[in-house]
Amino acid sequence: MSLNEEENLELKPPRMNLFSVNKLEYAKGERPKVDCILCAVRDKNPLVDNLQIFESDLTIVSVNLYPYNPGHLIIFPKRHVTNITELTDEEALEIHKFTAKAVQIISKAWGAQGFNVGYNLGRNSGGSIAHVHQHVVPRFPNEVGFLDVFSNTRIVVYEPYKMKKELAQLWSSTDT
Ligand SMILES: [Zn+2]
Repeated sequence: MSLNEEENLELKPPRMNLFSVNKLEYAKGERPKVDCILCAVRDKNPLVDNLQIFESDLTIVSVNLYPYNPGHLIIFPKRHVTNITELTDEEALEIHKFTAKAVQIISKAWGAQGFNVGYNLGRNSGGSIAHVHQHVVPRFPNEVGFLDVFSNTRIVVYEPYKMKKELAQLWSSTDT
């Protein structure tokens, strides 16, 4: 590549922001020594980071303890159940409502253009936590994995507690 071509590359693309997520310390290595990490979140166990953004009588909404995109939330029943077949109608409906609210908030706040929503159930599903939890994973048009190294891009590092703070504010100020 000639010098002229390099200059052109710098001028052409508009500056873009990419989001990256800073993992919590234990997401890189050993997990907290608790029987169930989501029951520990519910019980406000100090061994587990509290990333909860909202709770009702039945349900908790939290930034995922192991986020891989900004706004990656988990929504789960307070009861320790390990299969969606065990959810009551009330729990299932509330999880659905909170999922819809999360999608609405994250679309508006960060311009997410797609979402992966769902459960990993049972062994071999890729799930690592038995306690049933619905994932809400926002998808962005330019994610770090697809970064064009020649593009003029600034990587915005998202830290889980920053996500929690932003989302908790948005959650409480949004009516649905
Ligand atoms: Zn549990």
